[in-house]
Amino acid sequence: MSRSRARSSASFESCSPPARVTNTAARTILHADLDAFYASVEVLDDPSLRGRPVIVGGRPDERGVVSAASYEARRYGVHSAMPLRTAARLCPDGAFVTGHPDRYRDVSTAVMRIFASFTPLVEPISLDEAFLDVTASRAAFGDGGTIALELKRRVRDETGLVVSVGVASNKLCAKIASDLRKPDALVVVAPGQEAAFLAPLPVGRLWGVGPQVRQALIDYGVSTIGQLASVSGAALRRRFGAHGLELGQRARGVDPSPVTPTQAPKSIGHEHTFSRDVVERSRLEATLLDIAESVASRLRAHGLAAGAIQLKLRYEGFETITRQMPLPRQTRESEPIYEAGVALLERTRSTAPVRLIGLTAIGLAELQQLTLFDEQPRSERVARSLDAVRARFGESAITRARLLADRPQRRFDFGERPTADAGRPPNDEAR
Ligand SMILES: [Mg+2]
Repeated sequence: MSRSRARSSASFESCSPPARVTNTAARTILHADLDAFYASVEVLDDPSLRGRPVIVGGRPDERGVVSAASYEARRYGVHSAMPLRTAARLCPDGAFVTGHPDRYRDVSTAVMRIFASFTPLVEPISLDEAFLDVTASRAAFGDGGTIALELKRRVRDETGLVVSVGVASNKLCAKIASDLRKPDALVVVAPGQEAAFLAPLPVGRLWGVGPQVRQALIDYGVSTIGQLASVSGAALRRRFGAHGLELGQRARGVDPSPVTPTQAPKSIGHEHTFSRDVVERSRLEATLLDIAESVASRLRAHGLAAGAIQLKLRYEGFETITRQMPLPRQTRESEPIYEAGVALLERTRSTAPVRLIGLTAIGLAELQQLTLFDEQPRSERVARSLDAVRARFGESAITRARLLADRPQRRFDFGERPTADAGRPPNDEAR
């Protein structure tokens, strides 16, 4: 059997199903969406890119696709998901950058924290986009438009990024509003004006209207949302079934769907698949340290601490084992997590070649108050300032000496982590 050459790694957080919020009366919902997120982060980190068409995703001669394009690049017709080579043809002078997924994730965490300072009801849609239900925050922060302005100001001041915001009484209108005048948009749909706001827009802007439904609606004589709103429910049901009824509701600006906050994860894990099976203990331990740092950093980002650590090993032939142990005390620092990982590795007494290694923090809880003479607060402060440096300069800014030999280039793919095998030519299974 040929060996897997996967260079992959994954982060995972498991959550319980979110609670549903059913009260939809008089809500104020924000949809916040960072403008050209990856490209904007690249400009932030390299000011020489400012004003240039920035294309994130890879080199112009690579086979991949565009992950993000700055507004300057979009003027050349470049957009995400377009093949890089097409982008290079449209925009030969574009600044092509491979991208820094770890950095985007860090910036995203910082932005989501700002969102969370306005309301606990934040539903992230992607790294750069979230719904916020600020209904209960109005007493403290003012009306939806005021909150949106303050949110835009804080994101700009604290991260240097520009966020477009739509404000409405429901998610549907907030989402369409934020997208209407990008970049740097703030569009408020007053309560009661939902249908009037939507009416002139093309029907393809509605959720649930893909290219096929859009064409079917156009064939039916409906090209704007307002025209769709004027078709009777009975007619829509006859023509498009239950889906048609739903579309009619949306066209009238009705969307009861709740903002569903993500819950604190029950576990936080990270794992790494080697491009070539590994037997050397030193490589396994170096990888464990890297993984422990990722896990600890994400524990801190969630404000959580681990009570126990689980080690996962997959051997040649896909036999997979897990071993776990409680920690002497709860932690969100890399050292004790790493030490637990090494101890668990030791316990396996195996010298078989390892294909995949991972650590998962379990028994998660808010960090409890520490005793007066505990050393931890200082190292916690150190760890937090390291997180801040990473957030500012990227994760590779701080790397422990013992990792340097093993730390390769990261590829642009979320969930992917470095293979410890930097010298190996790129494999071809992915692109
Ligand atoms: Mg965006």
